[in-house]
Amino acid sequence: MENILEISDLRVHYFSNRKTVRAVNGLSMGMEAGKVLGLVGETGAGKTTLALSILNMVRAPQGKIVEGSIRFAGADVLAMGKRELRDMRGKDVAMIFQDPMTALNPVLTVGEQIAETVRKHEELSIEDAWKKAQAMLETVGIPADRAKEYPHQFSGGMKQRVVIALALACNPKLLLADEPTTALDVTIQAQVLDLMRKLIRENGTSVLFITHSLGLVAENCDEVATMYSGEIVEYGTVDQVFGKALHPYTQGLFGSLPDLSAATDRLKPIPGLMPDPTALPKGCFFCPRCPHAMDICAKEHPADVDLGGHRVKCHLYAAAGAAKGAASAAGRRAE
Ligand code: SF4
Repeated sequence: MENILEISDLRVHYFSNRKTVRAVNGLSMGMEAGKVLGLVGETGAGKTTLALSILNMVRAPQGKIVEGSIRFAGADVLAMGKRELRDMRGKDVAMIFQDPMTALNPVLTVGEQIAETVRKHEELSIEDAWKKAQAMLETVGIPADRAKEYPHQFSGGMKQRVVIALALACNPKLLLADEPTTALDVTIQAQVLDLMRKLIRENGTSVLFITHSLGLVAENCDEVATMYSGEIVEYGTVDQVFGKALHPYTQGLFGSLPDLSAATDRLKPIPGLMPDPTALPKGCFFCPRCPHAMDICAKEHPADVDLGGHRVKCHLYAAAGAAKGAASAAGRRAE
């Protein structure tokens, strides 16, 4: 299947007080149409910056995409003019933020906000756009007559449902969901995720699901990417990564999950902190925290190793990757 999103060698920096924060560092990835990709990692790993980059919304002058390319449905996002970007945002690519109030305007009714978004991208009369807004609210389980109400009249979970209705109103091809349920309590979280899954399945929407929860990835995603210090350090299907996590950082994330069957009352957090993004180490960014670090790790930045579609950025697998590459080259010669 073709990729709806292709990112290659993306670098995003923020400039402040004569320091450069290297938020995204040579990141390359592709997303297949119709798939749900879970992007996991700690706060500060660059996950939200990546999502904003896909919408070309990294704010100048502090933030800047300094290198790389982003192609959405074959179009070069970084070369788009204002009009093309406006058409793409909200219609083809929509975003759900952690805090619903980031997306909602407190002085407009929720119906007006959805109708306005629909009219920006579709040629509908005011009445038809209003009807569509009401229908979208009903799709997310909110009675149509509540379209006349303002955001503050809704609870947290209901507000996030409104945001989902707003994001999906124009039937986007790609949805960027940035910790969409973190601010909600657990029961509401489950309801909102069920609803998102249903709508995504019905519409065939591709989703980049940003979260720090491996549990949510297991339940909701087809593929998973682990992000660390602005890089994707591991990428594979949920079966591959949950079956056998390869990167020591992903292994650490699994190790820090509570194990209800084990006789322990403590989590095992990954020791240490992510490196200062204004002074990243020369070799592997995870080296200072890695229990398997070798001499080469502090000197050379690891390259991606592809082990049958399960990719990992780690020196531990260099030999396995080279053997796999040689075997497939020999196979091609024999054909
Ligand atoms: Fe650890 Fe070295 Fe792999 Fe980095 S490259 S994760 S330091 S083993």
